[in-house]
Amino acid sequence: MKQLLTDYNIEELNQLFADQPKFRAKQIFKWLHSYTDFADMSDIPQSFREELAQNYTAIPIKIVKMLSSKKDNTKKFLYQLYDGNIVEGVLMEYKYGSTICISTQIGCRMGCAFCASGIGGLVRNLSAGEILGQVLAVNSYMGGTVTNRKVTNIVLMGSGEPLDNYLNVTKFLSLVSDPDGINISQRNISLSTCGLAQNIIKLADEGYKIILTISLHSAIDEVRKRLMPISNKYKVEDIVNAAKYYFNKTGRRVIYEYAMINGENMDNDAIEALARITRGYSCHVNLIMLNYVKEKGLNPCTREQAKSFENELIKRNVSVTIRRSMGSDIEGACGQLRRKFME
Ligand code: SAH
Repeated sequence: MKQLLTDYNIEELNQLFADQPKFRAKQIFKWLHSYTDFADMSDIPQSFREELAQNYTAIPIKIVKMLSSKKDNTKKFLYQLYDGNIVEGVLMEYKYGSTICISTQIGCRMGCAFCASGIGGLVRNLSAGEILGQVLAVNSYMGGTVTNRKVTNIVLMGSGEPLDNYLNVTKFLSLVSDPDGINISQRNISLSTCGLAQNIIKLADEGYKIILTISLHSAIDEVRKRLMPISNKYKVEDIVNAAKYYFNKTGRRVIYEYAMINGENMDNDAIEALARITRGYSCHVNLIMLNYVKEKGLNPCTREQAKSFENELIKRNVSVTIRRSMGSDIEGACGQLRRKFME
């Protein structure tokens, strides 16, 4: 298999092309971030383009299917990787810009009770260049280039647990925010994790400035253990401490995600526990309407139940909103579309 050039930063490209003029690495980096194959890199000498094409891959990922929601402006993409594997992603267009939801792994090994991505376990990690490729492919699909950017925001909320693929994900963060490339500011990037507390601390220590989103789903250890096996390793308290640490280091408010599951995490104890752990520091709770996954058998709540859950939290001074649900007609939930496609 040929090496994927979107895995490389400018410094690494410089080393790779040591016998080329100094500006070559930057030129190629820009083309790669415009999702351009070697043949179309018009300011690169023809002979060198051919040499590159023989040894490397420029296009990391291809869009093989696109579904458009009839209800809102959401689009769902299926991408194919060099080895035939399929990953999925979502594009949400708002007034202020376009947000792309990207995947970091094929499958996932976290095994959360409500999530479709983990059903088949982890297949493999995505490389930094493959994660980046999702952004580049969709940006190009929208008519964007490296200088005329169409994708403005990124959320790492697709398939996979980003902090379980730490090195590739952090390299991706550096690549995608590089001023010489597609240059999406880390302020416009959210990373969602099921709560790998140790790596949250590492992320803060290494100076990343992204928005941290933690999938909490319960502030009570016993309940959370039923829903998320990772709770056997990190307690709610560990996660809260990591969140506070992240806030203190980065100044960025932490967001907790909480999928409301009927009969599981919505009783009075759940409300009190959530109010308790969100007190005294800057954080926000995003309530999510559960997407029904047929293999999982967990049930969503009604709009009224969600509203009342939200109100109880507001009464306890929790900063909270119910997240707008989009793309419900195009298998918007994690991993659902890929599963359907594979079947
Ligand atoms: N592994 C990461 C990111 C991927 S999941 C994480 O756990 O955060 C992205 C978000 O979708 C998470 O908050 C996850 O808990 C949520 N999610 C997964 N399945 C869902 C479902 N069936 N309904 C609603 N939200 C779901």
